[in-house]
Amino acid sequence: MLAAVQSSTPRARAPPCARHLENRHLRVLIIEDEEKTSSYLLRGLTELGYTADTASNGTDGLHYAMEFDYDAIVLDLMLPGMDGYAVLENLRRHKNTPVIMLSARGAVDDRVKGLRKGADDYLPKPFSFTELVARLQVQTRRRNENLEATVLQVDDLVIDLLARKATRGGQRLDLTAKEFSLLCLLARHQGEILSKLMIAEQVWDMNFDSDVNVVEVAIKRLRTKVDAPYPAKLLHTVRGMGYVLEARDDAPQAEVA
Ligand code: CA
Repeated sequence: MLAAVQSSTPRARAPPCARHLENRHLRVLIIEDEEKTSSYLLRGLTELGYTADTASNGTDGLHYAMEFDYDAIVLDLMLPGMDGYAVLENLRRHKNTPVIMLSARGAVDDRVKGLRKGADDYLPKPFSFTELVARLQVQTRRRNENLEATVLQVDDLVIDLLARKATRGGQRLDLTAKEFSLLCLLARHQGEILSKLMIAEQVWDMNFDSDVNVVEVAIKRLRTKVDAPYPAKLLHTVRGMGYVLEARDDAPQAEVA
């Protein structure tokens, strides 16, 4: 499946917690069925130092958007099969990745519909490449403010990335290096569901056909340290989807595996 993604450069890998110290490549997904537009964007973004993947239909695009962690998605509205609105609607149930919608229709109604469904920006076709890049920069800057933070906080859980220590309610948590990386990744994406595959890829540097049981085991261990001693649970299992770190007012017990 992964072979269908055209990648402009090999995926840069770094421990998630080291990323804020690097000038990392921004990773963009282009979901566009018009080959000409798609390859033009791929070439242009690559020249500017972005890492870009392309998908030529909504189903593949949604799949990549869910499985991988993009800094932004350029999403065409008119796509064969699943259209841009449907992709956006599905994506927004699970992820907050910034989305810029493209559409040949410039009508106000379409624009409003796109924004209502969770698009972060909207660009009518034909668009200027420079304008698209400017808008991408706005979206990724907003996201990078979070990526560049050196202290992450979820409820009373505080993670100091520079000191590489985590505390809950002021008490130091005794974590292994992997557990710390895993916690950082979850905290950086707090409120977003992360799939086992994505966690395996980013924390263990494993590829898509690896055994993801290692993730389940690590989550279980992390939970005994981060959640078990405390009344408010932060690390939640979403069945069939993955894991999410967030403070919930009323955590349903059924979901806390
Ligand atoms: Ca199209």
